[in-house]
This record gives sequence, C-alpha cells and structure tokens, in this order.
Amino acid sequence: MDRITDDWLAARETQAALNCLTRMGHQALVVGGCVRNALLGVPVADIDIATSALPETVTKLAENAGFKVVPTGIEHGTVTVVVDDVPFEVTTFRRDVETDGRHAEVAFSTSISDDARRRDFTMNAIYADADGQLLDPLDGLDDLRARRVRFIEDAKARIEEDYLRSLRYFRFYAWYGDHSEGPDAEALAAIGETLDGLDRLAAERIGGEMLKLLAAPEPSTALGAMHASGVLAHVLPGADPQFLAPLVHLEAMTYHAPDPIRRLAALGGVDVADRLRLSKVQARRLASMREVNASLSEMAYRHGTEAAWDIALLNAAMAGQPLAPDTAARIEKGALAVMPVNAGDLMPELEGKALGDRLKALEAAWINSEFALSKDALLALPLEEG
Ligand code: ATP
Ligand code: MG
Repeated sequence: MDRITDDWLAARETQAALNCLTRMGHQALVVGGCVRNALLGVPVADIDIATSALPETVTKLAENAGFKVVPTGIEHGTVTVVVDDVPFEVTTFRRDVETDGRHAEVAFSTSISDDARRRDFTMNAIYADADGQLLDPLDGLDDLRARRVRFIEDAKARIEEDYLRSLRYFRFYAWYGDHSEGPDAEALAAIGETLDGLDRLAAERIGGEMLKLLAAPEPSTALGAMHASGVLAHVLPGADPQFLAPLVHLEAMTYHAPDPIRRLAALGGVDVADRLRLSKVQARRLASMREVNASLSEMAYRHGTEAAWDIALLNAAMAGQPLAPDTAARIEKGALAVMPVNAGDLMPELEGKALGDRLKALEAAWINSEFALSKDALLALPLEEG
C-alpha cells in the first residue's frame, strides 16, 4: 500500500494540473483528504495540490496551459486551478511563522517537510505524486492503517496554533478513527487544556466542522467524547448527546441517510442556529423539528414524507423506544392524502374570508378523521361543526 491508483488521480484533468507545474521542474503533489481517502478506499471529495512553485508562478503556468485560475486564498498561497470544470486547490508549500489561534502568518517554503508540519493530523499529511507514489514525511501511513487520528508532533502546540483543530479532531475521529479504541489520550488531554480558545473561533468555522462531524456514519462516540471533554458545552451550550446513538440506530434501521440537521435536533442546546451560523433553510428545518405537535400523518400531509420521518425518528430516539410498526404506513397515508373539497365546491355560496375559514375548518375535520371523511360527508357537515 505505498502507491495509490485511483481514477481521480489518473484522470486527464488531474494529470494536466500536476503536469503544468512538474514539467517546469517544480514539485507538485496531491495531499490531504484525497490521498487519505484513496488509501482508505472511500470516496474523495475534493483534490488539493501542494507545490514548491510560488503562487504567481502557479498562476502563470496554469494560465499558459489554458486553465482558468481563481485567486481564492492568494495571501495564504492558495489558488484554484480549473481544468475542464474540475477545480484543484493548489497551495504553495508553507510553514507557519506566527499564529494567534485563528489566523496564521505563513511563509512559503520549498520543503515538503515544512509543509507537512503545519498540517493538523498525521493522516492528513500524506502526499502522492502524479504516478501515485506516496511521500510520507511524518509517518502518517502507520497511523492511517491503525485508524489512529493523531496530532502532528505536540498536540497542545498544534491546537494553540488553530483552536478549530480541536473540533477537527472529533470530526476525523468520527469518520476515520477506530471507535473500539477511543480517542487518543494525548489529544484529549490537550483538547481539555485549551477549551477557552474555542470561544474565539468564528461561528461559521464552528458550524462547518460540526455539520461535517454530524454527517459521519456514526458520530455518537465522537460526540460522547466531545461532551466528556467539555468541548460540546463550549460550542453548543445545553447540548446533550444522549439521544444521538439511538437516533443513528433508528436511521440505519429505516435506511435513512445520515442527516446532520436531524442529528443536531437530537442534541438540543440553545441558540444553535446562531452559534453554528446555519443557513436560513437549515435553521428553519431545525426549528420545525424541535417544535411539533402535529400527528405524523398530518405532518406528512402538510410538509411531506421526509419532514414526517424526521419527527418519527427523533421522537422514538428521545423516548428510547423503537418506531411504532405502523410508522411508514401512517406517513404514506398522510403524504398521499388529497383534500376532497376545494374552493370551487363551496362557491358561490361562500366567498372571501368566509370561504377561506370554511375550507380551513373542513380540512381540519378531515385531518382529524385521519383522512376518512369523504367529500359528501364534509360538505354535509353543519357550519358550526365544520
Ligand atoms: P475532506 O474530505 O473533508 O475534504 P480534508 O482532509 O481534505 O477532508 P480539508 O478541510 O479539505 O480536509 O483540508 C485539506 C487538508 O489541509 C487537510 O487534510 C490538512 O492537511 C490541511 N488542513 C485543513 N485545515 C487545517 C487546519 N485547520 N489546520 C491544519 N491543517 C489543516
Ligand atoms: Mg479536502
């Protein structure tokens, strides 16, 4: 396992992105998540390239090769090179000169070992060249094989450079760690000693990490450790992970994909949408999951199958009970139900507000009957009852 042979690496676009740098004598390597995931045999999200070439050289060489270049993070040495619609984040080798726990002042370097040392975990500091040959300056491969998420060198020093790394630790542990082993003791100790630094992080960085963590197939162990270490209380006061494991279990039983917002609802906590800077859509979904008094079939009728499933799963997880056997049937019934009476049936006798009120009342009666009342039965209802 000292070579990767994935399709994304062999792809013409990746080869072209690397080649425009290497053919001029610069070093250019894929690094980080793409290499880690290739070695683990799991899908690769995005491709990061590290290079000895300076950002302006990368820009010039990529443009000469006909690729679009976007200066996404030029002050940190990152440009995005787009080859036939495939984006590559190309970052010049760098070392941190000064850090304040949130931002780093960087210096460019021509040394891959400098570049490896300013990363977070050993498993995220494995590189590969265009042929897939691995370069592993910090022995990340051994840790990766053992599924050991380990800070590079001194854990506390790494965290004090960027407190987000405490959250990233739990994210990577959830996704790639050996859950039978529990988190690394040195990491947990360092995270516990640096809790106050978490308060200085920007909400959107915290939110981004938390949502990625909660999207892991099985985040409960990581959340349990986050809670025990005091991290959870810092980033989400009031949150409690006790309902997460039951929810994850119920999701799996009903073939529901991991859903970070549904899982967030199970954690509870105060000011969650603000503290994680959720999008409007995410915040609305979270709120709707946390205040529900409608029946499942009404939920499905009004808001659709998925919203009803969210509630069914959350309620069962929080009650510590299995799903009621008729859950799917009730949701389907509500989702397929079509209100038998419409405005046309009530006109011209009724109009305006009276029409709207009557329609609403008939709909409520119909929902109350579990969608059993027919059109004729509804139209026959006396006005005050309907
Ligand atoms: P993903 O599959 O989520 O993309 P990833 O490992 O690629 O995982 P990214 O956040 O895309 O994660 O970062 C790419 C690489 O950059 C990481 O693998 C790591 O080497 C480095 N990195 C990113 N953020 C940090 C950080 N806060 N501190 C140190 N190194 C970091
Ligand atoms: Mg990545």
